[in-house]
Amino acid sequence: MIGKCKLCNKSEELQNSHIIPNYFFKRLKRNGSAIQTEVTVGIPNIKTQDSWSEYLFCKNCEQHINKFEKYVISFTKHPFNVKSTADSKDNNIVQFSNLDYERFRLFQLSLLFRAAIASGREWATIKLSKTKKEEIRLSILTKKLPDELRYACQMKILWDFKNNTPLDTIVMIPIKKILTRGEIIYFVFGGFAWEFFVPKLSRKTEKDNYFIRTDGTLLSPIMDYLSYKPLIELLPLIFLKEKIGLTKL
Ligand SMILES: [Zn+2]
Repeated sequence: MIGKCKLCNKSEELQNSHIIPNYFFKRLKRNGSAIQTEVTVGIPNIKTQDSWSEYLFCKNCEQHINKFEKYVISFTKHPFNVKSTADSKDNNIVQFSNLDYERFRLFQLSLLFRAAIASGREWATIKLSKTKKEEIRLSILTKKLPDELRYACQMKILWDFKNNTPLDTIVMIPIKKILTRGEIIYFVFGGFAWEFFVPKLSRKTEKDNYFIRTDGTLLSPIMDYLSYKPLIELLPLIFLKEKIGLTKL
């Protein structure tokens, strides 16, 4: 399919690009089922084999994104894979060091960008202004990063304490929360919660310090997924639908 590449704007043969990297879906399919929650009451949740992809980028741009995407996928498998270290600061916080700030941030920006430009209904609530989309597009294309607080992504480790494993069996449709001065867009995949602050981190969140710093360190709190709000807000909906027979599994 020929079309205008959403990253370089050239008219090219477009690739079927995944919004959330396909790797995380493949992992799901091995370990269990992915539930596509449908937030509209009355419409069934479905078990999905769909990994949410669209024709977005040309081959060159897809390869460009792939370089930093690969890096982050490796990191989620094991920090050691990307020569970074993980030390427990205390029982609840892990400090990752020696991360590649540029690749990490480029991946995060590309994720936000892909969700904002995708047209599928899974992404319908994720919208950015034209100006912001253009700012992020140029940033990804030229690798000139915005400052570390702008579009910063707060990362939390989601843990299944019952089985003592990372929560890598859930991929959640991104949801957003409107704040007085912007919004937060939440993703869950790869054992992490990814929380994007648009347009930038609030003061309070900056103090928490759970986002990647230019020196390649990242502090991540470990959270029981059953107390992770964006997920549990959806859970009653999932169960309610099951009760009334609206989950097709
Ligand atoms: Zn392109």
